[in-house]
Amino acid sequence: MSRFLQYALSSAPANETWTLSSGLSARWLAPGCVAMDAGRDDADSVLLSCGVHGNETAPIEVADAILHDLATGRLALNCRLLVMFANLEAIRAGERYGEYDMNRLFNGAHRKLPELVESRRAETLERLAADFFSAAKARRLHYDLHTAIRSSVFEKFAIYPYLHEREHSREQLAWLQQCGIEAVLLHTQPANTFSYYTSRHCGTDAFTLELGKARPFGSNDLSRFSGIDNALRRLLSQPRAAVAPLQADGLPLFRAKYDLVKHSEAFRLHLADDVENFTLLADGMLIAEDGEVRYTATGGAERILFPNPTVKPGLRAGIVVEPAQLD
Ligand SMILES: [Zn+2]
Repeated sequence: MSRFLQYALSSAPANETWTLSSGLSARWLAPGCVAMDAGRDDADSVLLSCGVHGNETAPIEVADAILHDLATGRLALNCRLLVMFANLEAIRAGERYGEYDMNRLFNGAHRKLPELVESRRAETLERLAADFFSAAKARRLHYDLHTAIRSSVFEKFAIYPYLHEREHSREQLAWLQQCGIEAVLLHTQPANTFSYYTSRHCGTDAFTLELGKARPFGSNDLSRFSGIDNALRRLLSQPRAAVAPLQADGLPLFRAKYDLVKHSEAFRLHLADDVENFTLLADGMLIAEDGEVRYTATGGAERILFPNPTVKPGLRAGIVVEPAQLD
């Protein structure tokens, strides 16, 4: 653990600027949120967020190691950078969240639950992100780093927030491929996630990146995260370096077809408890039933994502996704 993460977790610094041994200046904008600036007018603005889910530790370790190497000068910085250790209390507790899933509280959703600690934090993170990107002069990039609860057919995948009238960025998809991302889910409607917030309201190219399975601090095999680690380091030090063109057939795209809604406690999911994300659903199979409601797979190319039959009635118990193409 570097001094950055130790400091973020142990105290409540804000508005403190200091000079690093590399010569860069750094500033705590709020607890757990540190900004560094290469001082170049044409620099890209890069937001790295991690720990929105506090038990997803590998991305926290990756971001912390990058900060450490920027501080010592082992890694050059040629961007404006803001790193957020998002849900500090959950990180300290080693829990996904305390009172409420923070990644359902962005895009203003925190205003409906203002009494929650996580709501106040989401509001702060939105404000800092908006301030950061309002001063952007070049590309605006946000990567929200996660690990998933369950195993996945595609170990590393990205969620591309709904873009409304904007087009998907082939340049960004190519960069994700360089990170080792194996599949991308294209969202087709707004969401209360951090990446949707900055995409929609700050004009970023933003992604939620699911980088493998969640494990406790010290139990991560960081070699499994070398793809994202190397790509982020290259982006920060050489933001204009060429990226290999997108190999579209090596990066399958999906979109949500429909949600499996749990209407009642009678809901039964006919998949194994440990079914992997993106598992193919055979044509005609009964995926779930809920009283009179039956969810049946069609076509043989549909897959299951984020199945969770234990949610409260009225909520989504999984998503059925299908292959998608860029427009
Ligand atoms: Zn997560």
